[in-house]
Amino acid sequence: MPRYAMIIDAKKCIGCYACQVACQMQNELGPDNAFIRFEDRETGKYPNPKYVIVPLQCQHCQDAPCVPVCPTTASHKDSNGLTMIDKDKCMGCRRCVAACPYNARTYLKDEGVVQACNLCLSLVKQGEAPACVATCLTKARYFGDLDNPTGEFAKQLAKAKPLRPDFGTRPTLLYII
Ligand code: SF4
Ligand code: SF4
Repeated sequence: MPRYAMIIDAKKCIGCYACQVACQMQNELGPDNAFIRFEDRETGKYPNPKYVIVPLQCQHCQDAPCVPVCPTTASHKDSNGLTMIDKDKCMGCRRCVAACPYNARTYLKDEGVVQACNLCLSLVKQGEAPACVATCLTKARYFGDLDNPTGEFAKQLAKAKPLRPDFGTRPTLLYII
């Protein structure tokens, strides 16, 4: 069973929002809801500060604190290592939202449920890339299998790291910053 992962090269991100819009369309979200958000981060040192734009979404943590807090098991790990939300089981209590240190879950008010990035598993199962990866104008996103890395994904994997290892959640979204 593949262990899907994504690498984001923040140095290539121009903050164009194309990935966010592609994700909204793929997941049929309205303009007020998004599974991808952006943060600025300072990387350089005085007197040469540099800034990168960091796209953030569910990090598909291996030790995901959003899972054990869920009273209905809606929030769960799947066989591909992804952190998923079973919409039919979600009662909208938002405990998982509070437990996520990456602020990566979205409460859909109209439906009364929480949802988040699912790495476009339905597209991936058809042999396609997640919508954000396919759409990225600068090719800042790479998608692959951690157990069988190939091509560009394998090359980038050697350089990629979790965004906040201090959170201790062992994400499978990795970054080059
Ligand atoms: S980023 Fe947040 S929602 Fe995603 S797996 Fe980690 S704790 Fe859960
Ligand atoms: S909001 Fe839904 S997925 Fe999150 S903890 Fe509550 S029931 Fe589980």
